Amino acid sequence: MSGRVHVVGGGVAGLAAALAAVRAGRAVVLHEATGQAGGRARTVTPADGFHHDNGTHVLLTANRRALALLGSVGARERWIEPEADGLPVFDARNGRLARVGLSPLSWLKGSLRPEGLGLRDVVRLGAMALPLPDRSILAAIGPRPIMDSLVEPLTVAVLNTPVAVASSRRLGRALRRVAMPGGARLLVARDGLGPDLITPAVDALRRLGAEIRTGARLRALAVENGRAAALVFGAERVSLGPQDRVVLALPPAEIKRLLPHLTVPDAFEPIVNAHFQVRGPALPRFVGLRGALSQWALARHDHVSVTVSAAGDAAERDPDGLLAQIWSEIAPAFAAAGVPLVRLAEARVVKEKRATIRQAAGPMPLPPERPLANLALAGDWLGDLPATIESAVMSGERAARLVG
Ligand SMILES: Cc1cc2nc3c(=O)[nH]c(=O)nc-3n(C[C@H](O)[C@H](O)[C@H](O)COP(=O)(O)OP(=O)(O)OC[C@H]3O[C@@H](n4cnc5c(N)ncnc54)[C@H](O)[C@@H]3O)c2cc1C
Repeated sequence: MSGRVHVVGGGVAGLAAALAAVRAGRAVVLHEATGQAGGRARTVTPADGFHHDNGTHVLLTANRRALALLGSVGARERWIEPEADGLPVFDARNGRLARVGLSPLSWLKGSLRPEGLGLRDVVRLGAMALPLPDRSILAAIGPRPIMDSLVEPLTVAVLNTPVAVASSRRLGRALRRVAMPGGARLLVARDGLGPDLITPAVDALRRLGAEIRTGARLRALAVENGRAAALVFGAERVSLGPQDRVVLALPPAEIKRLLPHLTVPDAFEPIVNAHFQVRGPALPRFVGLRGALSQWALARHDHVSVTVSAAGDAAERDPDGLLAQIWSEIAPAFAAAGVPLVRLAEARVVKEKRATIRQAAGPMPLPPERPLANLALAGDWLGDLPATIESAVMSGERAARLVG
């Protein structure tokens, strides 16, 4: 088919859509509002030279579409497993560190079993993977010891939503995939999201002939007779021919602004990230924390990044207080894990107020993925999996197929 595919939004969903379309033989133009691709999965490179990811991102080996995308742009080997012997989890209340397996099979080994796990818990976790009526994870599991040692940390890490409201069905879908053989290995970018995901994807797009325009914010969309007729980027208006197609790979609020008749999710959850410049381990190391504000932390050779998902009030706190508390939690955690850290001068907090949609139990207000004849939507918030890189990739690939 002649004509061009205009992909608007250069996050992971837009990159996946652009790669799928260009590989299907289409001429592709990717339009990104900011100065760099990556969206929420970007590396931040301020002038002071203290570079880090917007927030640490992990993948699981169950994330098959994300790993396939990495493989297709030559970056799969750049994602490594920092804790192959089980995830070190530090309990800040008693100073103890235990290793926890992420796959149900690994729990057969007592040393990798989450504290307090009983047969009833395994049954309830298994039941979440069945297509039963949706309810909150707190209601599905109940106030059992396993809530503190496994379910709550897992829920906020995967769904970025508090257990009291988070959807058991959505977490269940993710658990079903993780429980498959080989699905539960945790991977991180060896050097960062920019070098290990975004730059390889952008480079591959360029090699395949796609045009990438940064600083190109879509201001408006002209619609005529159920079709997108033109894209308006400030003073520039791109008229669409009969063979042209559009993928809007944008967050829900942008979709609502451009296509106000659509219903989109309007509840979000924040993530707070703290980044400390350090002299750290040669290869990335990872620890989880319990009984602390900090939930997990990734140490690299030159910095540590700490994640607080479903951050609630922490998203309103002053950065200095957050940095002091978070460092006081992670320093003993890494010491207990035997990971050397020497703190250096720089530290900063990054607050993503709308890190993901709130993934609560009950129906999600989602629009049709092809609301106009020549236009499809993409973004991590579409589909029924947790809003993560995997769902962003899958939605981008679906959108490219939908516009054909
Ligand atoms: C702190 C944090 C930690 C996370 N941790 C994980 C994790 O561990 N594992 C995981 O899998 N996922 C994680 N996620 C989620 C993951 O980042 C997202 O699922 C994924 O990046 C979403 O990609 P996207 O393309 O759907 O959206 P976005 O990344 O939001 O991309 C949208 C893009 O569109 C651009 N844009 C917006 N408006 C316009 C416009 N009008 N015109 C042109 N361009 C526009 C934006 O600049 C942006 O580049 C995390 C997210 C955050 C914030």
